[in-house]
Amino acid sequence: RVKAAGGGNFRFYAAEMNASSLDRLDMTNDLRRALERDELVLYYQPQLSLRNGDIIGCEALVRWRHPRRGLLPPGQFIPLAEDTGLIVAVGEWVLRSACLQNKAWQNAGLPIVTMSVNVSAHQFASKNLVERVAAILQESRIDPNTLELELTESAVMSDADEFVQATDSLKGLHISLAIDDFGTGFSSLSYLKRFAIDRLKIDISFVRDITQDPNSASIAQAIISMAHSLKLSVIAEGVETEAQLNFLRKRGCDDIQGFYFSKPVPAAEFEQMLRERRQLVLPPGAELPERT
Ligand code: C2E
Ligand code: MG
Ligand code: MG
Ligand code: MG
Repeated sequence: RVKAAGGGNFRFYAAEMNASSLDRLDMTNDLRRALERDELVLYYQPQLSLRNGDIIGCEALVRWRHPRRGLLPPGQFIPLAEDTGLIVAVGEWVLRSACLQNKAWQNAGLPIVTMSVNVSAHQFASKNLVERVAAILQESRIDPNTLELELTESAVMSDADEFVQATDSLKGLHISLAIDDFGTGFSSLSYLKRFAIDRLKIDISFVRDITQDPNSASIAQAIISMAHSLKLSVIAEGVETEAQLNFLRKRGCDDIQGFYFSKPVPAAEFEQMLRERRQLVLPPGAELPERT
């Protein structure tokens, strides 16, 4: 709407603007307070080996128990956190909480799992990420091998040289690094041979249509082959059906994550799965995955 369109229109326009920016301001203040008031909570989604069906890890996924708006998924506040820079504090809370939780499970004698934690591009670009990760490793006393950071291709794109340096320093801490939502960014693939990445995560958008759309199938297959020939491991996210599972297993995908086995669940529920040593029942008849 153009301001010159008349008084009435202008007022409408201004009111509209104010409503949404006030709402954002509201949410920004709320989010700042959410950290102090401990309103953020982590859910955990199991990651399973297609070799033997074991739970080998989990992804920590943040939610916000908003006092008035209810349980908010990350899509409703992570973008705001990114825009306001609050993502650095949120990310640090997530990382510390996830590591402390994993240590508690380890102390309880449960099967060892790798904890995957999302790191946003903004957080990745923050100058002291390596120091913060090192400090949290020390504080939580977890084996660094049991922590994986999920980076996105947007982190790679911002500055390739800094990405090399930062990933090298992170690898110096002996943690694992994955590229999340792989295949959706427009970054140059050359970083795969230059950087200390351990694993690729096939994006849910390719997995969704994997059994119907030949293009999605080709892309998923190409990612698996490329990962393996670069000696990287590969996990598919968003696996919901047995047909998707079989497709991925036949083509040698190492691990999966998705609603087929479990949605992200609260800590107590994931702990119960570990306690029961719950497994993915691998459908009979599918060939065993082979590594190239
Ligand atoms: P992501 O890292 O790609 O996480 C996977 C998302 O896919 C999760 O959504 C998960 O619930 C969903 N998902 C998993 N399996 C399935 C499935 O079988 N079907 C479908 N339809 N969806 C599935 P969620 O928890 O809403 O998180 C959305 C995104 O928010 C994440 O995508 C990640 O980018 C971001 N996010 C979550 N937690 C954090 C965090 O602690 N820090 C940062 N920076 N970002 C986070
Ligand atoms: Mg992720
Ligand atoms: Mg993902
Ligand atoms: Mg995704």
